[in-house]
Amino acid sequence: MTAIVEMENVTFAYGETVAVRDVSLTIEAGDFLGLVGPNGSGKTTLLHLMLGLHSPDDGRIELFGQPVEAFDRGERIGYVSQKATSRGGTMPVTVREAVTMGRFARAGYSRLTDDDRAIVDDALETVGITDLAERRINELSGGQRQRAYIARALASEADLLALDEPTVGVDAESRDAFYKLLDSLNDDGITIVLIEHDIGVVTDRADRIACINTELFHHGDTESFVESDALEQAYGTTGQVVHHHH
Ligand code: ADP
Repeated sequence: MTAIVEMENVTFAYGETVAVRDVSLTIEAGDFLGLVGPNGSGKTTLLHLMLGLHSPDDGRIELFGQPVEAFDRGERIGYVSQKATSRGGTMPVTVREAVTMGRFARAGYSRLTDDDRAIVDDALETVGITDLAERRINELSGGQRQRAYIARALASEADLLALDEPTVGVDAESRDAFYKLLDSLNDDGITIVLIEHDIGVVTDRADRIACINTELFHHGDTESFVESDALEQAYGTTGQVVHHHH
């Protein structure tokens, strides 16, 4: 079976700042990988490298078995960036329009069929925002907007969901519901990579953990991560570990 993401000895620097050093990791189909580490430890950079949004200075990255620089199946990936929760910069389109855009890569706008429209309806229903379909995306709450982005990924039939701190600014109740949604999508076979600063949330949900602080301190199953001292090592003495239990 082909891995969804394969990184080998990947290094990336912003000018003089090395953000990711010599990281190797593999994400298999169906994994729920939690990506943890202190602020500024290279989590977002690593995610961007995985998705081909940065080119590595050194090392090799494959997405769905293709070298990332040649990867041409963008519809297989749903990316919810950190900015997705904030109102700024969002296009003034309705939720349905935004989710329908998830079908464009597959069908092309002018060739959208009734089946495509049904898939959009299903995606809205799966994430629980059918009643918000005609609202403008920039009028939604952060949590509702996250769901709209997930629905867009579902509409494109993405099999990898990459989420960068998706619940920042989302209230606790919506956050729990959101993570339940991620669990059920993962149960349906969607591969998930989640950056989340609350370690307890990640260890409760993810079956695998990548813990980084520029370098990789752990990559493996959650149980062995919890039993190891990788977290303390990665956070060192200066970092602050956010560790809530639900
Ligand atoms: P995290 O997501 O873990 O908070 P980032 O990947 O955002 O970490 O950042 C890793 C390091 O790279 C930090 O030292 C950060 O300051 C630096 N960095 C991130 N983005 C840029 C950028 N666009 N230009 C220069 N340095 C950056």
